Amino acid sequence: MNWKKALDSMQPYKPGRSIDEAKRIYGLDDVVKLASNENPYGCAPSVRDYLTSAAIQHELYPDGYAGGLRKKLAEKHGVDETSLLFGNGSDEIIMIISRALLGKGVNTVMATPTFPQYAHNARIEGAEIREVPLKDGYHDLEGFLGAIDGETAVAWLCNPNNPTGNLIPSDTLKGFLEQVSENILVVLDEAYFEYITGSEHIDSISWLEKFPNVIILRTFSKAYGLAAFRVGYAIGDPEVISNLNKVRSPFNNNSLGLAVAEKALEDEAFIEHCRNLNHEQRLRFTQYASDNKLHLFDSETNFVLIAVPGDADDASEKLLQQGFIIRSGNALGTPGYIRVTIGSEEQTSNFFKAFDTLLQSEGSAV
Ligand SMILES: *Cc1c(COP(=O)(O)O)cnc(C)c1O
Repeated sequence: MNWKKALDSMQPYKPGRSIDEAKRIYGLDDVVKLASNENPYGCAPSVRDYLTSAAIQHELYPDGYAGGLRKKLAEKHGVDETSLLFGNGSDEIIMIISRALLGKGVNTVMATPTFPQYAHNARIEGAEIREVPLKDGYHDLEGFLGAIDGETAVAWLCNPNNPTGNLIPSDTLKGFLEQVSENILVVLDEAYFEYITGSEHIDSISWLEKFPNVIILRTFSKAYGLAAFRVGYAIGDPEVISNLNKVRSPFNNNSLGLAVAEKALEDEAFIEHCRNLNHEQRLRFTQYASDNKLHLFDSETNFVLIAVPGDADDASEKLLQQGFIIRSGNALGTPGYIRVTIGSEEQTSNFFKAFDTLLQSEGSAV
């Protein structure tokens, strides 16, 4: 068959070990998954209650317009309903953007390392990928401006960045938006927006009117604790949204996901609660890293990228043997580091105990 050439060098997404798998292989009773930045506190209790009683008309197609959720989000963000696009997770929106704008003869600019789906989709579409190395975990926006040219279609800013956790300072970001050509779609992937605590951060939604070439991605998968339901959305200029909508498949979000996301918006106090708990545990990671002289990137998210003694795959294996599933930096473009989702207070304490054993065995390795 005549597959796209790009597929030759590509691999399907490889999920990490599941909790059940880890229990079986390592003979453990308790395994904590701190690998995918899910919310350790789950979703709002009201959403949980709703789910046990939810009566979805399963014989009907979902609302392809996502009317209920759209109305609530438009109100919440103070934008027009036509400024919103829904995806089966923001992953699907990344695919929609790529499909609509990328192809042979155009290029796309992104940081490295960053969220791998930008390059993955660009490769499938046959676009040239231009990667700008991070500086100490931060986006190098001067470097972006240097890499951008007349053939650039999309610039991806993962903000805060996965896997480092760094947030672009608002004034730096604004300066970039003022300089970049309005012909380029600038994607602000804000999957971790709800976890930001930095007081000087400006909500980028307020810039959309001034910069109609910006599109913001948000998701219900992380802080809202609804990763299983696959609901993400984009906020942008109605003209941009309208073009992307042509690429979207008609019923890309299922009815239960839409209903549950809508329900979750009623409990903003839960999100604030999670943000505060996450912040407390994040500070403990910063302290732990500094006490043990380990480098840790500045994070405004619910994960940290922390240096490990020795090889990151070895460290991951040792942590897994003690019941913690985390991500080795070797697979994320950050060798020597692991990415750890910030869990609850108890999970964090136990994680530090497991990490202590890595430090103790340091130097005594064969
Ligand atoms: C998790 C994540 C996503 C994907 O979120 P979904 O809405 O679950 O598809 C997108 N971007 C970044 C940076 C992420 O970390």
